[in-house]
Amino acid sequence: MDEIFENNEDQDKKASAFVECPHCFTKVLPHADNTCPACQGDLSSLVGVNPNKASFLIHESEELPSYCYSCNQYTEQEVRVSGDQESILSKFLTGNLSPEETSNVVIFLPQCELCAEIEDPEPVEVDYDNQTMTFVVHTGFRDQVIQLREELNHNEGNAG
Ligand SMILES: [Zn+2]
Ligand SMILES: [Zn+2]
Repeated sequence: MDEIFENNEDQDKKASAFVECPHCFTKVLPHADNTCPACQGDLSSLVGVNPNKASFLIHESEELPSYCYSCNQYTEQEVRVSGDQESILSKFLTGNLSPEETSNVVIFLPQCELCAEIEDPEPVEVDYDNQTMTFVVHTGFRDQVIQLREELNHNEGNAG
């Protein structure tokens, strides 16, 4: 089979070749058979996908509700997540990311004891320019953060 390079100058088209894998929430360039290079999951099949999980962007200085990001249970525990642990992914995506040239991103993510025993929170993506991280969170937690954001926006609007 010949290699086909569509040599158009449309950068957007190139970028949109990346899709978010429903299984591991990584932005990936699917293999030819439509599987995820990160987790080998089938991108055209949602079998095994947890409907309560979603990828969610969190800002470094953002106020978060006291609920576990992973199971949405009330918790006062927080886990420090920093971007300089050089997640495999950020290396993967940017190639030659040098921590010295960037300001680190640190987020205190609420996580209950039970979930802390199972896994450490790991961002699927770290954005050093915007000081944000993307995590796979419980949809209930996501909704609470969105609600909190709206409340904060409202309050700021009223502050004289
Ligand atoms: Zn995947
Ligand atoms: Zn939990």
